Amino acid sequence: MSEMQEIKNFIEEKVEADIAKNGPDYTVCTRFPPEPNGYLHIGHVRALSIDFGMKEKYNGRCNLRMDDTNPAKEDMHYVEAIKRDVEWLGYKWDNLTFGSDYYHLTYNYAEELIKKGLAYVCDLSPEEIREYRGTLTTPGKNSPYRDRSIEENLDLFRRMRAGEFADGAKVLRAKIDMSSPNINMRDPIIYRILRADHYRTGTEWCIYPMYDFAHPIQDATEGVTHSLCSLEFEDHRPLYNWVIDNVSVPHRPEQTEFARLNITRTIMSKRYLKKLVDDGVVSGWDDPRMPTIAGLRRRGYTPEALKSFCARCGVAKVYSVIEAGFLEHCLREDLNEKALRRMAVVDPVKLVITNFEGSREVEIENHNAKEELGKRTLSFSNELYIEREDFMIDPPSKFFRLAPGREVRLKGAYIIKCTGYDTDPEGNVTCIYAEHDPLSFSGMEGANRKVKGTLHWLDAKAAVPTEFRLYDYLLDDRDGEDLDFSERYNKNSLTVKHGFCEPAAANAEVGDTFQMVRVGYFRKDEDSTSEKPVFNRVVGLKDSWAKQR
Ligand code: ATP
Ligand code: MG
Repeated sequence: MSEMQEIKNFIEEKVEADIAKNGPDYTVCTRFPPEPNGYLHIGHVRALSIDFGMKEKYNGRCNLRMDDTNPAKEDMHYVEAIKRDVEWLGYKWDNLTFGSDYYHLTYNYAEELIKKGLAYVCDLSPEEIREYRGTLTTPGKNSPYRDRSIEENLDLFRRMRAGEFADGAKVLRAKIDMSSPNINMRDPIIYRILRADHYRTGTEWCIYPMYDFAHPIQDATEGVTHSLCSLEFEDHRPLYNWVIDNVSVPHRPEQTEFARLNITRTIMSKRYLKKLVDDGVVSGWDDPRMPTIAGLRRRGYTPEALKSFCARCGVAKVYSVIEAGFLEHCLREDLNEKALRRMAVVDPVKLVITNFEGSREVEIENHNAKEELGKRTLSFSNELYIEREDFMIDPPSKFFRLAPGREVRLKGAYIIKCTGYDTDPEGNVTCIYAEHDPLSFSGMEGANRKVKGTLHWLDAKAAVPTEFRLYDYLLDDRDGEDLDFSERYNKNSLTVKHGFCEPAAANAEVGDTFQMVRVGYFRKDEDSTSEKPVFNRVVGLKDSWAKQR
């Protein structure tokens, strides 16, 4: 990892060159500009880690700016969710700003363009505008309204603002070049009429600026030096620069693009994630299967794991898709260090130790690799639960768990030997019987005997009934195929199990994450009640990614 961190990415190289060029008083300033029309997802973590990474690395500034110039879909609820998620990741913004705070300013710059003869009010219908725009291979045609006088344009634009015209009846367009090879430069729309209730400005405005006009103005106003965005804005950069060149903004920001983050089996579009929520495919934006920051947090991801993942994926200018297994690998690495060990039986079957009476205490370490984290006490008795899959009536020879006549070690307790079992009429095992070796208690000399398997277990009298939610990817594995997400839903993305966990896990705080010995990492969920804890499986213990390498 350390060797990775030493290689500078192209944005860092650019920023360092700008620092060298501009001298010691120069402060790098970036911004992260989400639209509050949904929750942030893991793709945004890449953008955040780049924007806030520049602030942290070069002692600069970074604003959190709500890019809210599209009144129809934006909402304060999303603003709050975005703030919460950015804070949870540990990023500290210098200023929290809103695109809607700049409506007056943006309007004034639009008038400035009109007065310079660089913008005009156009009455073409949306279809006509599309038709006049031309295509990638054919130039566009000038609008018949292109040569309106400055006075007429100013008058019409003011009347647009005053609400004299219907939605869509007129637009304000920048007067650039209808034959530009870059379609974005063919007299782009910079203002539209739209009567919608904006969540912050209400009905104060009935005209709204387009992103391509508003964004450079916002950047320049905030003193942003490096406006970092994903690659789909590359073709918009000439327009970004045109705006900066032609209105009297106080400062010149520069746009640089990077590739978006893509992950296999992961939906990375707010629009689509919203559809999952609206259609009830998931329980909400924070469903633990969602790749939203809120979902990942509830699942049990840590900010450290997400940041480490982004740092190790790097920043590039070329499209790529990262294996979902690598994200899980980064998480496992972090949780393996931090998570206390506990015992849980997800799919229980009763085990009776026929030659053991009463109960006793056993001490088990809280972390197999960190003695300093101490031990806890569990009770052991003649009635236990073990995992159903840890017993087989007629096992193959390589099955190192419990079977009739075979021995296993119960973690931290005794070696036991299976003496029998009961089944129901369908043949399902309902109870297993075993005898313990009293001289084999953990730490005694008799425990040194070679026994291949060690099982986790719980004392039936102390075990707390627990709901376990086991998750799989929301999408199947057909990433390479050109399919709509709705064709790729994994119908088995959630499995609920009713089992048990030890009191130390059951009584933990919501949000605590444990390594349940042999079964995976689990986080105590918000749905837990005082009667019944609910645990989400964050990730299993097997690292398919590490194995693959
Ligand atoms: P979506 O398509 O999911 O709605 P968006 O780009 O519309 O995403 P914004 O709220 O506009 O979402 O995003 C804020 C910033 O995050 C933008 O600068 C955008 O470039 C960046 N971003 C969004 N998705 C990704 C991604 N997958 N990888 C990297 N950056 C991203
Ligand atoms: Mg966007």
